[in-house]
Amino acid sequence: MSKEPGSILIAGAGCAGLSLAMHLIERKNFNRKIVVVEPRTRDEYTDDRTWSGFSTKPHLFSGLASTRWHRWKCKTPNGENISESRRYSYESIRSSDYYNFCFEQLTSDPRVEIHFGCRLVNSVDGSFDVVDKSTGPKRHLKPDHFFDSRPQNDSYFSGNPDDVVLWQQFSGIEVETVQDTFEPGVATLMDFAVSHGDAIRFIYVLPFSRRRALVEFTVFHPSTVPFRNLRNEAEMYLKKVYGESSWRAVGYENGRIPMVTSEIASNTSQNTTRIGISGGLARPSTGYAFASIHEHSRQIAMSLESGISIKDRKQSRLSKVLDRIFLSYLAKNPEKASHLFLRISQRTDPDRFARFMMDTSSLLDKLAVIMSMPKLPFIVEAWHARNIWLRRRSTSSRVQSFRLAEKAHS
Ligand SMILES: Cc1cc2nc3c(=O)[nH]c(=O)nc-3n(C[C@H](O)[C@H](O)[C@H](O)COP(=O)(O)OP(=O)(O)OC[C@H]3O[C@@H](n4cnc5c(N)ncnc54)[C@H](O)[C@@H]3O)c2cc1C
Repeated sequence: MSKEPGSILIAGAGCAGLSLAMHLIERKNFNRKIVVVEPRTRDEYTDDRTWSGFSTKPHLFSGLASTRWHRWKCKTPNGENISESRRYSYESIRSSDYYNFCFEQLTSDPRVEIHFGCRLVNSVDGSFDVVDKSTGPKRHLKPDHFFDSRPQNDSYFSGNPDDVVLWQQFSGIEVETVQDTFEPGVATLMDFAVSHGDAIRFIYVLPFSRRRALVEFTVFHPSTVPFRNLRNEAEMYLKKVYGESSWRAVGYENGRIPMVTSEIASNTSQNTTRIGISGGLARPSTGYAFASIHEHSRQIAMSLESGISIKDRKQSRLSKVLDRIFLSYLAKNPEKASHLFLRISQRTDPDRFARFMMDTSSLLDKLAVIMSMPKLPFIVEAWHARNIWLRRRSTSSRVQSFRLAEKAHS
């Protein structure tokens, strides 16, 4: 066995795995081997998603943004609001640019070994086999630290019986139109034109130019909706608003992001850390994960370079409490979502709103968002949902999560 003292093993070369490897090689004093294992071959990577969010805190990949909007819209049948910020933009990074950028840097760094087309097999003694999907066992190693971004099954996120789980599910179509159709300066974050009241449903439009945009049909729901249905809804919307033949699809993306009140622990043992969505990095009230994934990577890389143990991700306690009450309210009152989101965007200063959305808010920002919301319904909800937000850490959900995760990968 090639026992490699000091090596770091990363399962998954998606957003979080690549982000961590990139943050590690950025650290000049970091001299350990970084082994990354990914089932996809390099050729199987596609432009499979567009990551967007507010630019409230620059990160290692900020320079990759392909489009930026300083105005964003929330639209409901009862009115709309356009917010504008000179300081921050809403910006998008194409996954193909991200993958290419990371692979270019990582494959030329002698500290990094990437095994594409491989899977990992765990052994009880903490060692791993890297198995090539076509040629068989390739490598055996016992890393000092294991970072795991492998996707988990749904029950991993469910937590305690009183926890709330909403799946943010979407199907996006990148379209090209024959005529000038879109307003390139404004990103539509939520257009509730497709809302029916039974679930939170809205359209998200990122206009890349007057004739090209990503149009996404999104649902927040406790159960799974097939992507086919979401795609049909997106197509129906496009046909209704832009006509049958005035557009053509040039790309697709599908996603399911957990929005949960359960506590997902990232450090599952002294030398195992979950990263990415599996590490609970998706913000419960919004589903945004991209920026927090990079912040988590930054914190881990700093700890590893300075030889200190990896702590759980730093997160404001007040943010967690607000997120949990908010999510619980949304789950019970989906028909009120459009009014609520419009009200928050109308009554909150755009810079504060952007920071709040990206979890980079100050206490004053949080208070401003609280002040924008209807008080009595949220006080009542805070009382009803006290089991969810009062607990510091849901021990049972943590233990349950580990067990389910171990089972899934054994
Ligand atoms: C279509 C889409 C759009 C999104 N848009 C946004 C957005 O605009 N803003 C935002 O903040 N968030 C967004 N998200 C949420 C989040 O940022 C992404 O899901 C992000 O890719 C999560 O990173 P990850 O590393 O956890 O998962 P992934 O990027 O999915 O990476 C997981 C990796 O693990 C690999 N893997 C799978 N099985 C194994 C195995 N057995 N062994 C080893 N590796 C394995 C996979 O092949 C993959 O490479 C979006 C998600 C999706 C799906």
